[in-house]
Amino acid sequence: MMVVAGGISLFLLLYISLNTNLFAKEGNQSMGIVLVSVGKIDRETIEALKDNLSRVFNRRVFIGKEMPEPHYAFNKKRNQYLSTAILNAIKEQKEYAPYERILGIVDHDLYVPELNFVFGEASTKVAVISLTRLRQGFYGLPEDSNLFQKRVLTEAVHELGHTYGLGHCSNPHCVMFFSNSLMDTDRKGSELCPRCKSKLY
Ligand SMILES: [Zn+2]
Ligand SMILES: [Zn+2]
Repeated sequence: MMVVAGGISLFLLLYISLNTNLFAKEGNQSMGIVLVSVGKIDRETIEALKDNLSRVFNRRVFIGKEMPEPHYAFNKKRNQYLSTAILNAIKEQKEYAPYERILGIVDHDLYVPELNFVFGEASTKVAVISLTRLRQGFYGLPEDSNLFQKRVLTEAVHELGHTYGLGHCSNPHCVMFFSNSLMDTDRKGSELCPRCKSKLY
């Protein structure tokens, strides 16, 4: 009997310590994802993004303090903003450091030197997305707010997916497929394919 009882308490002890580790892990993640407006962003867009990202990544999502307009990233010759400069400016903000991931949202057209434009850019912990080319109005078409919100979510999930270690996916219906144009973005939507999903969780 003694042996059995000892076995049970050992089991309980192990179970408790396993649980403690689990809580410790959850503790690190409890700060979740923070959304940061870099310059003025429509509040409704941020709120919708907050709810949807929480569902996709199964994380708590917060709205952080707004950052000023990113004048430092503006390139007069290109009339665009250097996304890497904005990423770095976000990284320097100590108040966002406790969060697991940080997503900057910019309403300016972004570029990196090798490309005409980018929808967004990601590093290991911080990502940034631009809203500019996600509006129908950019292409001279009538605005469509549902389509706009869907595109914002798709780009946000894609860039955050990179920060969680996901690469580009060859499935054109997976959110991690590389978007060359909005046609790609609209076709793929904001869902992860089963293979990418299994890597994430
Ligand atoms: Zn990508
Ligand atoms: Zn995929």
